[in-house]
Amino acid sequence: MTRREEIIRELMRESRSIDELARLFRCSRREILEDLRHVQRSLRAEGRRLFVLPPLCNSCGEAINIKRVKNIKRCPKCRGSNLTPARFIIKRG
Ligand SMILES: [Zn+2]
Repeated sequence: MTRREEIIRELMRESRSIDELARLFRCSRREILEDLRHVQRSLRAEGRRLFVLPPLCNSCGEAINIKRVKNIKRCPKCRGSNLTPARFIIKRG
């Protein structure tokens, strides 16, 4: 099983952040981001979707809306860096 297939299996089971996936699969955040982008594209054909649970800003309470898979480091509203990271999960539909 490739790492991407294992990531899909993991995210079908529960939501994970980029940091958690990097720790779990012993690779860099950059590699995980690339994998997630690839997974997002490849799932479309299979009737499954990668959902992004938005990162939350702990300074101003803003839920940061991200459409593309990326690693947000600062809140676009208040520029605060104390964020609860985005989580990713795969579901049907
Ligand atoms: Zn903020």
